Amino acid sequence: MSSPIITLKDVNKTYPGIVPLHVLKGINLEIGRGELVSIMGASGSGKSTLLNILGILDNYDTGEYVLDGTLIKNLSENRAAELRNKMIGFVFQSFNLINYKNAVENVALPLFYQGVSRKKRNKLAMEQLDRMGLADRAHHLPGELSGGQKQRVAIARSLITNPSIILADEPTGALDSKTSKEVMDVFRDLNSSTGMTIIIVTHDPGVGAKTNRIIRISDGMILPDENV
Ligand code: ADP
Ligand code: MG
Repeated sequence: MSSPIITLKDVNKTYPGIVPLHVLKGINLEIGRGELVSIMGASGSGKSTLLNILGILDNYDTGEYVLDGTLIKNLSENRAAELRNKMIGFVFQSFNLINYKNAVENVALPLFYQGVSRKKRNKLAMEQLDRMGLADRAHHLPGELSGGQKQRVAIARSLITNPSIILADEPTGALDSKTSKEVMDVFRDLNSSTGMTIIIVTHDPGVGAKTNRIIRISDGMILPDENV
């Protein structure tokens, strides 16, 4: 097997406070390049905390996180942002679209922050929307789109910087079951056509079943794989 794109060794994370909360308790994990995996566990088990660390949105206390050969530890804000922008696309439960910008403007936004010209970023954004089957919705505002369409716009936005990894936190949490299946089909197609690594946090067993591997977390610890 080629070297994993993600390796966690004995990662611990405590939220400080009057009563400090030890949320991740010695996480060991490898995720290979091109995997489509889900992270499942009860509410409060540490899924989002883990995903935020994987996405370099938050720090951990002890252990090691190696992302594509780079040790992610004690990075400056700038360096963290640089790696994040280069490597990772994010998809959220609540879509996080800007309501007064239309679909193509939303998809193009990450390129605005990279200083790409308007003409070029709109062209690239149209290509991603087309890929999501939404070319005819390009000039609609989020409020004029269905939940599934909004999430496909958000997926198009996550793809526009050509990341190696997509991190999705409960991406179907706000969708009905039929639409959830459609969104999971989008992730499956992406994974098989591009070999992009996709990591999906969910508490929906139906969503987990659509991935190729389920990582189970309970009370801040990874449970051993069940070989079914
Ligand atoms: P999950 O995504 O599995 O529901 P989280 O990772 O969001 O779990 O949260 C794990 C635990 O950490 C929960 O008890 C939650 O209340 C707590 N927690 C999450 N974020 C913070 C924070 N920023 N400060 C303090 N406690 C937090
Ligand atoms: Mg969560």
